[in-house]
Amino acid sequence: MNVNPSGWRPDMGASEGGGETETFTGNRALMLEESLIFELGDTGTTGVDLEPKPSAATRLGGLERNRPIGLAGLTEPQTVRHYTRLSRQNYAIDLGLFPLGSCTMKHNPRLNEKVARMPGFADIHPLQPTDTVQGALALIEMLGEWLIKLTGMHSVAMSPKAGAHGELCGLLAIRAALEARGDAREVVLVPESAHGTNPATAAFVGYRVENIPANERGRVDLDALKSRLGPDVAAVMITNPNTCGLFEPDMAAISEAVHAAGGLVYCDGANFNAIVGRVRPGDLGIDAMHINLHKTFSTPHGGGGPGSGPVVFSEALTPFAPLPFVERQGDQFTLVEEESAGEHHGQSFGRMTAFHGQMGMFTRAMAYILSHGADGLRQVSEDAVLNANYILRSLEDVLDAPFGASGPCMHEALFSDKGFRDGLGTLDLAKGLIDEGFHPMTMYFPLVVHGAMLIEPTETESKAALDQFIGALRSVAERAKAGDQSLKAAPVHAPRRRLDETLAARKPVLVYKEPEQAEAAE
Ligand SMILES: *Cc1c(COP(=O)(O)O)cnc(C)c1O
Repeated sequence: MNVNPSGWRPDMGASEGGGETETFTGNRALMLEESLIFELGDTGTTGVDLEPKPSAATRLGGLERNRPIGLAGLTEPQTVRHYTRLSRQNYAIDLGLFPLGSCTMKHNPRLNEKVARMPGFADIHPLQPTDTVQGALALIEMLGEWLIKLTGMHSVAMSPKAGAHGELCGLLAIRAALEARGDAREVVLVPESAHGTNPATAAFVGYRVENIPANERGRVDLDALKSRLGPDVAAVMITNPNTCGLFEPDMAAISEAVHAAGGLVYCDGANFNAIVGRVRPGDLGIDAMHINLHKTFSTPHGGGGPGSGPVVFSEALTPFAPLPFVERQGDQFTLVEEESAGEHHGQSFGRMTAFHGQMGMFTRAMAYILSHGADGLRQVSEDAVLNANYILRSLEDVLDAPFGASGPCMHEALFSDKGFRDGLGTLDLAKGLIDEGFHPMTMYFPLVVHGAMLIEPTETESKAALDQFIGALRSVAERAKAGDQSLKAAPVHAPRRRLDETLAARKPVLVYKEPEQAEAAE
């Protein structure tokens, strides 16, 4: 039985945690030091008493494990403490302001969670007969109707499982539409400031990607775009509001020019949060747009999931949308699984997923939408934009705001590292922010701005919370502008000091070594 409570070793001290005063345990008050699970347990301990392995002939034909793999064994209380201690070192939207730009880290109302856990939604199986899941299908259809109404588009595909998956769905529909008219085109135009998923998606679908330059106001250069349009351009992918946090005022003119040249318009709608209830993408000539339910309509996300990326389509693209989709006939909801001759999906490009999409995200988004109502959703957008502009205007005297002069921003504020001295950069400022108790903003994106800092404060933050964040950022920014080299050591108050991120990415330690082996290797 391993009684070592936290993997403490006499040599640990406080140096690993970086506390100023060393403690015997390495703990700092009730912030408890925690080791890797491999350092904690020994391979002999177990949380359960298992029967001895029955002797039976193996049927693995020599592929059976021939040596122990060194997984740590822990008792149940050790396991609980290990993960609880680690969870206390996490940062989350439920702990504090989460200013990651482009990510829309929203407060997730608890009502959403309650609804998502209702057994009628949470415990159903996608292969159940449709007459036993009428409520779930009704919810999918109802959410789809809301998305169509809010965007002013013609139809919606609910199955894509994230924003990037939605982009794939949209471009596959665009390719199907072009092929249906016998018009194979090769190029997709993407602005320089685009999220990396945009060019990746276009390349994945088989298109050649070309950049469209931005003008000095951070928007798509309309003349440059127009002069590049021609019979080889299948589509343009435009993010609106864009990744500089700015509305593209020429969107309708862009769509008109692209359509006149025979191409189609894809809109990356990840930033829809800024314009819900104010602008309908359908009025701007857009043919397909994904909506990140997990950004615009709350639902917890981060660390890779979960997400949901429904795609809304124009009338022209609707026949090419994916299967399956939910159809309402009177009080009955059916699942259309095959191409049908009707107006919808008659020339569908096929399926995106095995089933219907992310039911848990649908229930959360629907709860969010219904609890806000149409007027409430508009208010959410207005508050998001107000908060971002408050940050922009409160900090532009200390941080360079490259597009600050071109008017208000949308729901995120963009700064650069211009004016930082003596080798200090955006990374140092971000680490300094950790010491102040904030998750850093998005860094070095968009690429069009040097040392970019993209700050999205979300609408639910109070003025007091914003003022505290602004104060912290101002103080760190002033240090960066004064060339304060102590920032290079930040974070000094975090459970771990600054990591060599390049080394960690290039040479990750993924294989557990027995202590003797590790010593031999050194
Ligand atoms: C988040 C985001 C995406 C990708 O969405 P995922 O759901 O993470 O796949 C694409 N474009 C922009 C502008 C985004 O902010």
